Amino acid sequence: MTALRIPFNKPTLTGRELDYIREAYERGHLSGDGDFTKRCSRLLEEQLGVPRVLLTTSCTHALEMAALLLDLQPGDEVVVPSFAFVTTAGAFALHGAKPVFVDVRPDTLNLDERLLAEAVTPRTRAVVPLHYAGVACEMDTILRVAGDLGLAVVEDNAHGLFGKYRGRWLGTLGGLATQSFHETKNMTCGEGGALLINDARWAERAEILREKGTNRSRFFRGQVDKYTWVDKGSSYLPSEVLAAFLFAQLEARERIQEKRRRLFERYRDGLADWAAETGATLPTVPDECEQAYHMFYMLLPSLEARQALIGALREKGILAVFHYLPLHLSDMGRRYGGRPGTCPVTEDVSDRLVRLPFYNELSDAEQDEVIAAVRAFRA
Ligand SMILES: *Cc1c(COP(=O)(O)O)cnc(C)c1O
Repeated sequence: MTALRIPFNKPTLTGRELDYIREAYERGHLSGDGDFTKRCSRLLEEQLGVPRVLLTTSCTHALEMAALLLDLQPGDEVVVPSFAFVTTAGAFALHGAKPVFVDVRPDTLNLDERLLAEAVTPRTRAVVPLHYAGVACEMDTILRVAGDLGLAVVEDNAHGLFGKYRGRWLGTLGGLATQSFHETKNMTCGEGGALLINDARWAERAEILREKGTNRSRFFRGQVDKYTWVDKGSSYLPSEVLAAFLFAQLEARERIQEKRRRLFERYRDGLADWAAETGATLPTVPDECEQAYHMFYMLLPSLEARQALIGALREKGILAVFHYLPLHLSDMGRRYGGRPGTCPVTEDVSDRLVRLPFYNELSDAEQDEVIAAVRAFRA
């Protein structure tokens, strides 16, 4: 097999990461909630206009915090798209809820808002829209249905940071939203995340849950004279080493997003006629969405064509990858009642989707090579 010359993803330094880590060390504070954690939270709060942002150790942990904040009880249900990351559902299941899988739209691959109301039962507590590839869900409808039926909205915004829906930032539309700073995301610190708290009544309890169930944050603000165990909780604070790395990446957000916009557009422009000829579909971005440029995916005409394309690229040293397997058909999903045929769009697109190399340091020459290799492919 040819050596892989163009990986699917590669974490890249933007310049100041290692200086900031040294600075954190020299300050003598490496545990959580130091100066860099505050700078990251403040940057996100100010840019997005979110009342409270708490950095976490992952998006999964931010989703778990959402489950804890919602006080989910055994038997409570949470509606999730079946075409999603494992912990989009798993974080809620871990805290006792039953995930209810809903199919996605064939154009954006986002939770199909037309199916939401019928998935709701008297036990439904929340819905988790995931903005796939950083293209917004149809949030007007989702927010209206959730409002009418009294459901919390938790945006899984792992792909969508700095994307917009009708001029509003993704991550600011639900009562809660979660971010990921995993190595594969637009901005990263290796493993990391954040909980965006748009409904400020959750802010104080969220601090407590994140700090082992103690009121330590209130203590440091001088609001209580000693801190103690007051609620459920765990340890969801990232260390300052991670926050220092992340701050450098967040500072470079405009440069990173601009680079990713360019990558996306070069793929789209370079592949449009090939796609039309071969029956492949390129991503749909509705007019009301300013996407976050998280990835470039295509839908091939069949599973066989998708596998053949991945194989042909690999022969040329290029790694392209598929994506989510339908959650409702996973071993765990079946235990929650998932059955074949219940989310037909998810089952179909999961077989046909391929993602092309997409990372901040992908050069024009490398991208041209990928485009040429795709264009040379005929199913
Ligand atoms: C990456 C990702 C997650 C999980 O992020 P972690 O930070 O690795 O926990 C959750 N949801 C979606 C949609 C993701 O892409």
